[in-house]
Amino acid sequence: MSECIFCRIIEHKAPSHILYEDNRCIAFSDLNPQAPIHILVVPKKHISTLLDFEKGDEEEIGHLFIVANRLAEEKKIQDAGFRTVINCKSAGGQMVYHVHLHLLGGRQMTWPPG
Ligand code: AMP
Ligand code: ZN
Repeated sequence: MSECIFCRIIEHKAPSHILYEDNRCIAFSDLNPQAPIHILVVPKKHISTLLDFEKGDEEEIGHLFIVANRLAEEKKIQDAGFRTVINCKSAGGQMVYHVHLHLLGGRQMTWPPG
């Protein structure tokens, strides 16, 4: 069995609240939401960090944003706006080493981020 929690969710072997799925990615609710809407959009291909995207993965990464936009519309946060984040490695705050796009919305975000 995969040791990667997100791979296990992708394989439907770990519980999650799945909001969207296609052959390239899956989107599910964050277990510890930091905003009223907090969704993770995750490529099905196991790519550890943003740095591990390579030539040929352009569609993989671009697709995450297309799906995030679709979810933002579904959740009706497109007019107010929202935030997308990819944390990269330790100093970037990455905890799960399977790259994922955070979609956060439903409240006013602040800047700079913590
Ligand atoms: P990051 O710090 O960018 O790696 O983000 C990891 C995110 O995954 C955090 O926001 C966690 O709350 C979330 N998370 C960890 N395990 C799970 C899980 N089993 N289901 C849903 N979200 C998770
Ligand atoms: Zn994985």
